Formats: sequence, C-alpha cells, structure tokens
Amino acid sequence: MTPDPSDAVASVPFLPALPIDADRMHRPDPDMTQVILSYVADRLLAEEVPLDGLADRGQLASVLDGLIAEEGHDFRKVMDVYARHLALTVLSADSPRMFTFIPSAPTKASLLFDMVVSASSLQGISWFEAAGAVMAENQALRALADLAGLPASAGGVFVSGGSAGNLSALVVARDTARRRRVDAGLPDVPMRVVVSDQAHSSIANALNITGMAALVVDTPDGRLTEEALRTALSGLGDLDEVCAIVATAGTTNAGIIDDIGAAAATARERGWWLHVDGAYGGAGLLAPELRDRYDGIEQADSVVMDPHKWWFAPFDCAALLYREPRLAKAVHTQDASYLDVIHEHDDDINPSDLAYHLTRRARGLPLWFSMAVHGIGAYRVAVQHSLEMARYAAARLAGRPDCELVREPDLSVILFRRSGWGPAEYEGWSARLLRAQRAFVTSSSWRGEVVGRLVFLHPATTTDMVDEVIAALD
Ligand SMILES: *Cc1c(COP(=O)(O)O)cnc(C)c1O
Repeated sequence: MTPDPSDAVASVPFLPALPIDADRMHRPDPDMTQVILSYVADRLLAEEVPLDGLADRGQLASVLDGLIAEEGHDFRKVMDVYARHLALTVLSADSPRMFTFIPSAPTKASLLFDMVVSASSLQGISWFEAAGAVMAENQALRALADLAGLPASAGGVFVSGGSAGNLSALVVARDTARRRRVDAGLPDVPMRVVVSDQAHSSIANALNITGMAALVVDTPDGRLTEEALRTALSGLGDLDEVCAIVATAGTTNAGIIDDIGAAAATARERGWWLHVDGAYGGAGLLAPELRDRYDGIEQADSVVMDPHKWWFAPFDCAALLYREPRLAKAVHTQDASYLDVIHEHDDDINPSDLAYHLTRRARGLPLWFSMAVHGIGAYRVAVQHSLEMARYAAARLAGRPDCELVREPDLSVILFRRSGWGPAEYEGWSARLLRAQRAFVTSSSWRGEVVGRLVFLHPATTTDMVDEVIAALD
C-alpha cells in the first residue's frame, strides 16, 4: 500500500505540522476538482456560449466585498460568485456573435490542451528545463514560418500578445542597428522607425518605450504603398538614423494589407530591418486566394502573428518569428549566475532569449496540439469561412440603399456608413443588439468619421446571425 504522504509528513517528529488550511492548499481535492471540471465541461460542451457583458459595478463590488481576508471561504461559495456574477460581466470574445475588436475563437482542442498546460504548470523557458515543450512550440512556430516563406534559419517564441511581440522585435531592430553603427565608428544617435499612419497603437507604444521616434508615412487609402513610401521618404536624405520599417499585414481597424514587397525593397536598399505586424491578419496567409497580397513577407526580419486572434488559440498567445534568431538572442538573453546552467550550450536558443521576458508559460502548446490534431487544412477552411462571412456581409450592406462600404474588405473586417447616422445611432444599434444578446458590435472611425465596423472570425458565425446585425440597422 502506498503510504499517504500527509501521514509521512505528520510522522516526522521534528517537522512542525502546517496549519490545516495551508496544508489543504496543496493536497489533492477531489471535490473542488470535480466542481471546477464540471463547470469547464459545461462551457466546452455548450452549443454556443452566451455573449454576456455589461456590468453594474456597484453590484459587483458588493458581491466581492470581503472575499479576500485572513481566513478563506468555501470554494463552492467563491466559484458561485464567479459563475453567477463575474463571468456574466465578461463579454465572450469567443461567441460567434462577437463582431467587434478582434474576436477570438479557440478550437476545443486548444482550450482543452490549455488546461493541460495549466494543470502541469508547464513552463517554457529553456531547452535545459523544458526540452519537450520547447520542441513542440518550435514545431508550431515552424508551421507559421513556412506559411510566411521564412528560411530554415528562422525561429521564434510565443509571447503574450502582438504588443509584446512588436516591442521585442523592435528592440532587436534598434540594437542590431546600433551595434552596426558602433562597429562602423558612427555616433550612437536616437533611432527612428518608418511606420504607416495605420500601424497598430502597440507600435507607437513600443517606440515610446524604446525611445525611438516614428517617421510616419501618410497613406491615401489606409495602405502603405510604394508610392506613399516614396513620397514620404523623398527629400529626407539618407535617413541613416532609421533602423526599421514596419509593414502591417492586416490593419486592425480595416483589415488592410500593406504593400509588404515595397517595404521589403526599401528595407533592403537602405539596410533597414523589416518588421511585419500580422497580429490579426497573418492567418490570411492560409487562404491561397489571398496569398499574393502578402508577397514580401518572406523577406521580413521579424514577423508577429497572434494565435489568440485568427489562429483559433486561447489567450494569451502571439507568435514572434525572427529571420535570424541569433540577433534576438544577442539582445534579449538575460545573464545571471543562477541562470548559467540554462546557457551551458552556447548554440542553444532558448525561448527566454528571444523576447524581453524570462519565465513564460508554454503558451504555444495549445496551438501545437490543435494543429497536430486537426491539420492545417482545417485552419485554412476556418479562415476561409470568416472571409466568406465578411464578403456576405459586405454584399448585404452594399445592397441596402441606406448603407455603403467605406472600402471593399481585403480580409474579414468591414467598415461601412449608415446614412444619417452619427455616434448616438451607432451606439443605439450596439446597445439594442447586446441587450437582446443577439450580437456585440461597435462603431469605429475612418479618417475622422464615425463608421460601423464588423469583424468576422468565428467559424460558427452564420449568415442568419449576420442578417440579424444588418436588420438592426433599419
Ligand atoms: C491586435 C493587434 C496588435 C496587438 O496585439 P495584442 O495581442 O492585443 O497585444 C498589434 N498589431 C495588430 C495589427 C493587431 O491587430
């Protein structure tokens, strides 16, 4: 018979017994396990998750009042607070009726495997500590790199989001350029980055954090084109303080894919780093009919794609790929005596070497598991479904006398005008649909004008759901 480990501890006389509640924290608990797993199972087996949303913050505060104190509470009571109060005030990003921001639609396989990652406390810091996790994550990263046409040398890491990916990549761009300048005997000057006026807000944030300035290219129709680039750069001299150019593969607001080839040519000509932000739109690479719009991405020095967006993985997961991961390692590796052991093999590139983090969850494994189970083909079909829903909605909107598209959609985002509507009317549309739990939509803006915006991502979104949203524009 296997001795009960708690008996073993209790029988060692010189070890003081832990107070009962602390001991309980780490003892297997079949009841709590059962209650939580059954909540999770209900959620995973639901035909459609409810949209939820909208909080009365006063009520929430009173529900939470006193819950964290010196003494704990029965787990059933705390779980009840979550299930009956908190959960209902969190919009379900994974509802097929979610058409705003960038929705999320994790596969069941990825959600289930996310629990394995959690329950096993899987970290993914280094080869030394986590070879299996690192290798599987790298396999998933390789699949993304292959789609983008990056060379065999490419490698990367899963970080918490596109923002973390953009920041980590731009730090490498900056420091690589700086090192080159120092090697060439040039002065260390503040660096600049060429971005379009539609680049994601996280790029501006990354530049602020890294002390770099943006050289903003105005885009006539939201797209960074060869001409827009040429116009912006002409007369500016050799711009030797520029270290990088950012092209967006699917702008968040309008789903526009920049002319990545033009950005790549400029980068090559001038010796700049090319960063491609495909946080939302990278998955469009899966659709053969769109593939040529991404031409040039294969020349990128770094690419970001968010699996927690259009790659159907749970939060929080972004893939950061480098053409030459060694350049990132030279910038991001953390040295500390207690870490020497993970750096024993100089050739190893650890996930912790490729971004500004150290400890990290092996957050790429849910995607890895799901891609291995379903195959890339299923992902392709799922992405094509979103594109089809967007085309359907665009056609319905264009067919209404009171609506017009701002532009034809490149990907799965639609911007449109409802004639006679201003902010209040769009807000009413949003509130009505959410109150009825039929959809969540919000307005956006385009060139200073308030417009309607719809984003399609969930494979379970149907044309009926789209019709309901459009009918609410009456
Ligand atoms: C969403 C998005 C980001 C930011 O990604 P997070 O995962 O939210 O940090 C960056 N760039 C683009 C183009 C995006 O769509």
